[in-house]
Amino acid sequence: MNRTVEVPSWTGRLRAAGLRVTQPRLAVLDVVHQDPHASADQVAARVRAEIGSVSTQAVYDTLNTLTEHDILRRFEPAGSAMRFEIATGDNHHHLVCRGCQRVLDVPCAMGSIPCAVPEDPQGFVVEEAEVTYWGTCADCAASRSDPTGEPSAVEGPATAVSSPVTKSQVGNP
Ligand SMILES: [Zn+2]
Ligand SMILES: [Zn+2]
Ligand SMILES: [Zn+2]
Repeated sequence: MNRTVEVPSWTGRLRAAGLRVTQPRLAVLDVVHQDPHASADQVAARVRAEIGSVSTQAVYDTLNTLTEHDILRRFEPAGSAMRFEIATGDNHHHLVCRGCQRVLDVPCAMGSIPCAVPEDPQGFVVEEAEVTYWGTCADCAASRSDPTGEPSAVEGPATAVSSPVTKSQVGNP
């Protein structure tokens, strides 16, 4: 939304990852590109509206495959559905509004991975810190009459993970 993204060559990206170029994969990439941070259900609904011949489960499987090949990035704010976006390797973080669940991208203040390490890593090799800022977006803050409804950006606890992505199933009913 507030990011300029070059016109992507999904075909090239799929082939570079060793994946076959299929209509559902291209449709999923288009939808996620147009609607970053969409949930699996939102992606499935839009893909099925575009190409009716694909099942919801097939869209979920496609989301998994593309995430496993680092073409999509997945993140899951606590208490919210899993969200998907195009993986750009830019290590950006997310602002999540507690009011309307809106998700915005924000560049990492440190710019390097991991951008935060624990005081005592206990022998861990920390590869990545996931930072989610929880607060109130400008619209929600403006619509509140409460003068204390200031947006607050609180850096949540950085999660040290030994593997960048947990390869689990998405959105199975
Ligand atoms: Zn909001
Ligand atoms: Zn993002
Ligand atoms: Zn950071």
